[in-house]
Amino acid sequence: MTSVLISGASVAGPALAYWLHQYGFEVTVVEKSGSIRGGGYPIDIRGTAVDVVERMGVLPQVRAAHIATRRISVTDGAGRTIAAFSPDDITGGRPGADLELPRGDLTSILYAQTRDKVDYVFGDSIAALGPHDGGVDVTFEHGRPRTFDYVAGADGLHSNTRRLAFGPESDYHHYLGSCFAGFTAPNTGAWSHEAILQNTPGTMAAVYAVGEHPWVHALLAFATPKPPADTTDRVALVTKAFAGQTGEVPALLDTLAGANDLYFDTVSQIRMPGWVAGRVALVGDAAYAPSFLSGQGTSLALTGAYVLACELRNGTPATYAATMRAYVTRNQALATGGIGILPRTRRQLWMRNQAFRLLPLLARTDLLGRGQRRAAKSLTLPPR
Ligand SMILES: Cc1cc2nc3c(=O)[nH]c(=O)nc-3n(C[C@H](O)[C@H](O)[C@H](O)COP(=O)(O)OP(=O)(O)OC[C@H]3O[C@@H](n4cnc5c(N)ncnc54)[C@H](O)[C@@H]3O)c2cc1C
Repeated sequence: MTSVLISGASVAGPALAYWLHQYGFEVTVVEKSGSIRGGGYPIDIRGTAVDVVERMGVLPQVRAAHIATRRISVTDGAGRTIAAFSPDDITGGRPGADLELPRGDLTSILYAQTRDKVDYVFGDSIAALGPHDGGVDVTFEHGRPRTFDYVAGADGLHSNTRRLAFGPESDYHHYLGSCFAGFTAPNTGAWSHEAILQNTPGTMAAVYAVGEHPWVHALLAFATPKPPADTTDRVALVTKAFAGQTGEVPALLDTLAGANDLYFDTVSQIRMPGWVAGRVALVGDAAYAPSFLSGQGTSLALTGAYVLACELRNGTPATYAATMRAYVTRNQALATGGIGILPRTRRQLWMRNQAFRLLPLLARTDLLGRGQRRAAKSLTLPPR
């Protein structure tokens, strides 16, 4: 039996594990966290990726976890509402065609689908890779050394596998001009199934109520020409970027100061000339992170996992890149192509707000979200 080690158990990892098991591989997944992490910020599954989850037999579970956001409100720096609309208006999707659920809920669904078929090892990480003609010798931080026929890195934007097999992150990391802090905050507005986006030129404070919970997901994103050289005091960096704002911001900054789940990072993409080096391949954010500005990271991870598994079933991942390249490029371009959710200048913000005001009208045309819809469907899946 051909053996594969997958590093990372979030979206791409368990999805790849599922398909490889289906195709008769012996699969081990190593995850550095001590367990599967549930909950988390909301992610989207669109276009071709919906077909992938359907083929995996988990579409009913994913639909059951769908957040069904009813309303997105856009406000100015003082919290005054500029426009309010349904997410389907903005993506141009048919209601219910796109799926949105907490990232950890998707992970839990994929884990439940694979846990009895695949060997999951939690709390460990690959320490070194020694590829040779007959396989890859792997040493772990904790476990005993083993040899696998293939290794797949599904360990995210800051992939350990990519560093070990392809070289330093700086060779592939493309900064998109902003940073963000994500954390949970009290649901002070009794919000339910809705999001609030408060923008000034170069900043976005987002509150996301995924259901009826006493907490919300908060995201504070801000433009800065270069990534901060020193991120030791992340709270100070964010506080400075949002100084003077009212609306939702003061309460969010108060929570940020004491947050115990603060996640701070740059908004970035991973761009690589190839995703296969001998017997090591990358999938998901590790290979082609498009950033949350694209809204397509999860879809790329699910689709990429399926395509990579099909390639390995055929004997070699040699044409994995050729199959995925145009789809990845198109979806990564969504993050950089338009004004998006983080307009940088007064003029961009004004144009974006005008577009939002016209949404009820535009939603009746086919124009809105057409780019995203087309990109999300721009790959024909290989046969099962
Ligand atoms: C704030 C935020 C908002 C987002 N919003 C959206 C959105 O609206 N829509 C959307 O589609 N996408 C969104 N994304 C992106 C989306 O989360 C990712 O694209 C998607 O999760 C990629 O899945 P992945 O499995 O490739 O990587 P990840 O989800 O990053 O998972 C990587 C896994 O590898 C594990 N790992 C890391 N290092 C090691 C190691 N050394 N050894 C073993 N395991 C390791 C991690 O613990 C993790 O479980 C957002 C991301 C962020 C940060």
